[in-house]
Amino acid sequence: MNKVLIIGCGGVGTVAAFKCAQYPEVFHEIVIASRRKEKCDEVAKAIGAPNITTDQVDADDVNQLVALLKKHQPQLVVNLALPYQDLTIMDACLECGVNYLDTANYEPRDEAHFEYSWQWAYRERFEKAGLCAILGCGFDPGVSGIYTAYAAKHHFKEMHYLDIVDCNAGNHGKAFATNFNPEINIREITQKGRYYQDGKWVETGALEIHKALTYPEIGPRESYLMYHEELESLVLNFPTIKRARFWMTFGQEYLTHLRVIQNIGMARIDPVMYNGQEIIPLQFLKAVLPNPKELGENYTGQTSIGCRISGIGKDGKPLTYYIYNNCDHHKAYEETGMQAVSYTTGVPAMTGAMMFFKGLWNKPGVHNVEEFDPDPFLKQVAEAGLPWHEVINGDLEL
Ligand code: NDP
Repeated sequence: MNKVLIIGCGGVGTVAAFKCAQYPEVFHEIVIASRRKEKCDEVAKAIGAPNITTDQVDADDVNQLVALLKKHQPQLVVNLALPYQDLTIMDACLECGVNYLDTANYEPRDEAHFEYSWQWAYRERFEKAGLCAILGCGFDPGVSGIYTAYAAKHHFKEMHYLDIVDCNAGNHGKAFATNFNPEINIREITQKGRYYQDGKWVETGALEIHKALTYPEIGPRESYLMYHEELESLVLNFPTIKRARFWMTFGQEYLTHLRVIQNIGMARIDPVMYNGQEIIPLQFLKAVLPNPKELGENYTGQTSIGCRISGIGKDGKPLTYYIYNNCDHHKAYEETGMQAVSYTTGVPAMTGAMMFFKGLWNKPGVHNVEEFDPDPFLKQVAEAGLPWHEVINGDLEL
């Protein structure tokens, strides 16, 4: 009996639950647990499948997680709560002998700091326990790393330059909203930029480097160089890479709001006293911003995320390669009630879980997605709603 436990029932958790329910032959039983059980109940009701149960858990508390895992006895936990909970969930998995998958690297609450060291430190313990942890199985990180692994396997003798390009050309009709958890999103965007060049990390000002890139079916969009967590594992797993960068598009209106939010101190993550109570400004801001889960209804346009890679092809000649997916916000909403950013994260999380249950991605230890065979994943993810396309020897613009 294959039993998956999804922790977190926001936009991404909702999509993952919808998609797991579409494959009852793989996911025999699905448990959705989150801080508020009523949210899980709403999602279970909307899906309406007989094999879903729900529960409540505070995933900051290892004891509660251990009790949850003992009660439900899943083979795999899919962690779609927040990055703050990665380590407590991994601890509980080790204690109960359960495998693990997530979509975002651990972050301490008091510092916006993105690196895998905390989770890679669990490698030996997962290996010894014979358990598998799959890290970063959303779109980026996630499919971005799997695209890179696919390029390395099928197209390149040596990859030299990697640019991950992430465009959201959608319009939700709000003056300002983030597409996934606002606290996590704003922490990520306001940090300094960083990219990898010739064995070293080069730091830039936040969103300092930008240029227009052309996205398929969308056209040119101003794209900003940011640090993104998958760069860290990709340059280690593909050591021929000389330069690795990550670009994301932002509209002028979004950036103006972001600047104001920062200038007035609302992006702060240190506690301030308000009416005799400690509050964290960014968490307060999250409470008043639109809920990303509710953006879907009027969202139009597409996302386009992919990898632009150049180097030496299998035939020894110079090669450029672009592999990408475009995802339509409205279609994602019609299927799952969520917009494309949640969809493009939840579908790969389900697909990674399916790879685990089929025994195709299962080796003891803690692994980033590019360490597994990309072929069965990319076949399945296309069938599950995220088809991909390739452009060989086109102009990468980078
Ligand atoms: P949401 O904020 O919409 O959802 C998070 C969910 O986790 C909510 O249901 C929340 O409960 C629950 N949660 C938060 N804290 C706890 C806790 N202590 N115990 C139990 N449940 C908790 O976020 P998203 O769905 O947008 O994002 C989910 C994850 O996906 C994040 O880690 C995000 O970084 C990652 N992500 C990854 C992407 C990728 O491409 N790799 C892209 C987008 C997101 P409540 O509703 O009660 O607050």
